[in-house]
Amino acid sequence: MTTSRKTLVTGASRGLGRAIALELGKRGFFVAVHYGKSEAEAQAVAAEITAGGSQAVLVQGDLSSIEGGKAVITQAVEKLGGLEVLVNNAGITRDGLVLRMKDEDWDAVIETNLSAPFALIRTALRSMMSAKYGRIVNISSVVGLMGNPGQANYISAKAGLIGLTKAIAKEYAGKNITCNAVAPGFISSDMTDKLPENVQAKYLENIPAGRFGAPEEVAALVAFLASEEAGYINGQTIAIDGGLYAH
Ligand code: NAP
Repeated sequence: MTTSRKTLVTGASRGLGRAIALELGKRGFFVAVHYGKSEAEAQAVAAEITAGGSQAVLVQGDLSSIEGGKAVITQAVEKLGGLEVLVNNAGITRDGLVLRMKDEDWDAVIETNLSAPFALIRTALRSMMSAKYGRIVNISSVVGLMGNPGQANYISAKAGLIGLTKAIAKEYAGKNITCNAVAPGFISSDMTDKLPENVQAKYLENIPAGRFGAPEEVAALVAFLASEEAGYINGQTIAIDGGLYAH
């Protein structure tokens, strides 16, 4: 089924967000392609969506704070003329063992990965309530479910995002708004390519599927959760990890 639902995908210039924006574009969604610094990459994503016959607009903004989140969502609502679908994808890592973790690395990851999505959701809900329709998909991580050494800030933010997902689901289910989370495992992207080879090999040993995932596989799951057909799925966290964490 195609749809022209007004949609914001954050961090759509690269990696998972890029694949998600392109997949939604293929399915007819009207996509606001958000980026922080990668302007040319975001322009290319928007151009590919419009070349495929769907609408796209660009939204630029720093998502490292609640204030940044407010500015991005306001711009997206203006450019789209409303908002019905929000994919909170933009995220960062600042890895380190707890005893060595700097306060600013804790703050940066919590602000970008949890506080900005909260700000985006809060404003998006207003548009969704007036549209009497909403789909929110938060990109968490499987480490938010299972833990991982060296990522206390990231895990806390991603687990927090799962909690936020449940809270929103319970509060707005009656308004025809769903909120779900996706918890990817090891997916090939810039974020994972920069991990040392021995770390990548160690992850691979533990993945029953014997391979890393592709951004397109995550995009297909997000597109389903963003669709009308997924209307009775709410408050869930769906892992997409090749069997890494069966919970
Ligand atoms: P990525 O390749 O590093 O891309 C990150 C995206 O987020 C970029 O589009 C970047 O925009 C944007 N972004 C980051 N910080 C920003 C900021 N302060 N302001 C505005 N935009 C910002 O990451 P990825 O691997 O695709 O990951 C995407 C999401 O999936 C993240 O939430 C990540 O935690 C999650 N995830 C990834 C994996 C994986 O294996 N890759 C696994 C589990 C979860 P610009 O480049 O334009 O600045």
